[in-house]
Amino acid sequence: MILLSELITLTNVNKKYKNGVNAIYDLDLKIKKGEFVFVIGGSGSGKSTLIKMLYREEKPTKGEIFVGGINVVKLRNSRVYKLRRKLGIVFQDYRLLPKLTVYENVAFALEAIGAKSSEIRIKTLRALELVGLKGKTRNYPDELSGGEQQRVAIARAIVNDPKLILCDEPTGNLDPKMSLEIVKVLDDINKTTGTTVVMATHDKEIVNKFKKRVIVIKEGRLVKDYEEGKYDNEAI
Ligand code: ADP
Repeated sequence: MILLSELITLTNVNKKYKNGVNAIYDLDLKIKKGEFVFVIGGSGSGKSTLIKMLYREEKPTKGEIFVGGINVVKLRNSRVYKLRRKLGIVFQDYRLLPKLTVYENVAFALEAIGAKSSEIRIKTLRALELVGLKGKTRNYPDELSGGEQQRVAIARAIVNDPKLILCDEPTGNLDPKMSLEIVKVLDDINKTTGTTVVMATHDKEIVNKFKKRVIVIKEGRLVKDYEEGKYDNEAI
């Protein structure tokens, strides 16, 4: 049975890539609406694979995945957009469009789903304000620092009021100060809007500072799940 308070449910999920690599084994995981969860683990432990399965970039070999009531595994390719509309995704390398301004990069996410122009303007400016970049709307990505570029990516991820923000090593290219700013922005969004955040990271300082739920993946298995955890070196 799926309870309404659960946003993400994985049951007995296994992932074996076509080359024979087993990336995830027997994963059972529940994440409630409004939670902020760090997924930690060594390089190659399966963190990205888990995140990718949540937005249907990869399909599990076995098991069930539900996100926001959607059966992610059974979802037809032609319906994947329905899942993606409920999500915002933030990557390590920002993935901004270099020829578009900050404003256009964020507005683009709404244009792509056919939003009205009045709505696009209001929502884009609101998202940029939330990440503290209202003064940079006309700049291009290459005129911004790494931290600012990542904040544009977060604005783009939240502009359509997603239920869930998935982040794959969002601070991986940033120095400690910028990393802290980025996770503070995500924490604020989580606290003010109740948007669920799942963040794969190996940033020890960040994990120790924010004291969130911490899930430890080791060699494709979930080995620890702490309610208010620290970066558990020994479990990794
Ligand atoms: P992490 O994000 O923790 O570094 P990944 O999920 O990227 O780990 O990788 C888990 C395992 O799956 C690794 O052994 C990796 O080499 C393998 N892997 C990841 N992506 C692919 C792929 N597309 N094809 C084959 N093997 C992959």
